[in-house]
Amino acid sequence: MNPAKLPSLPLRIGISSCLLGNKVRFDAGHKHSAYITRTLGEYFEFVPFCPEMAIGLGVPRPPIRLVKVDGSIRVRGVRDPEQDVTEALVENATAVARELEGVSGYLFKKGSPSCGMERVKVYHPESGHPVESSAGIYARTIMQALPELPVEEEGRLMDPRLRENFIERVFIYHRWHCYCAAGMTPAALVDFHTRHKFSVLAHDEPAYRELGRLVAAAGKGVLADTAGEYIRLLMRALSGIATPGRHANVLQHILGYFREDLDREDRAELLDSIEAYRREQVPLIVPMTLIQHHLRRHPNDYLGAQYYMNPHPRELMLRNRI
Ligand code: SF4
Repeated sequence: MNPAKLPSLPLRIGISSCLLGNKVRFDAGHKHSAYITRTLGEYFEFVPFCPEMAIGLGVPRPPIRLVKVDGSIRVRGVRDPEQDVTEALVENATAVARELEGVSGYLFKKGSPSCGMERVKVYHPESGHPVESSAGIYARTIMQALPELPVEEEGRLMDPRLRENFIERVFIYHRWHCYCAAGMTPAALVDFHTRHKFSVLAHDEPAYRELGRLVAAAGKGVLADTAGEYIRLLMRALSGIATPGRHANVLQHILGYFREDLDREDRAELLDSIEAYRREQVPLIVPMTLIQHHLRRHPNDYLGAQYYMNPHPRELMLRNRI
């Protein structure tokens, strides 16, 4: 499969509407994120959803919160505990999940009883004290319906490793959609997997081996089942953070491909920069730049085809931080 011949689908991302600056919050305000709209907006097409507006709560509206009632988490009014919108939010999320086919990720607003991805406070119904934390009801339903969908919260995007992790997953999942649109075949699945081998290896080595076994048997079973299992396992593996230690192992592996090409000095220089990166003294871009330089001088089709070399647009500078 020649990636240049893949259909060019728009890269669409679901998002909590208030993060785009839409005044849909309970207090008629918004939570505009400049990083999302100005930086990520260069590459992503956003598909906004506000579940609380969608279920007819209007704006402004009385606040709601998560409450633990008889062992289950409900979404109820802060001022009017009789108001319970749990089922309405679940129904809306279930309908939205069906609309998200072909969407490559979702950015949620943190802390919201509807949209929060995690660590949303759950209150005791009588005392009003927080008793535990959970995901917002809408976000939880979306994540359960679409476990392979890359998701993140806008607050966590400020952490460089979480940001890189989310954006890498989004680009890979989008590429998966492009492969599917071109028509998935056993050969296309093998090609997709081959080009992402180093990316998976940087996240999860056992999953790398499991995915390899799955792909090797692609011609034997029902392809749709194998492909479904493959993408679920892949996206789960990629959601683990690629640590400097794991990246350094991949870089050492890449170094092996230059065994015949580099003289002692070049080899020592590359090794030094990999070890400096492993010790977190330089960012990943430093050894990667050296590798790219050697790859230009000593082209290698297998290495050159690895999306690990260029997983996302360079302008996002996701590999430039320690
Ligand atoms: S957090 Fe979700 S429910 Fe709340 S205003 Fe934003 S989009 Fe709407």
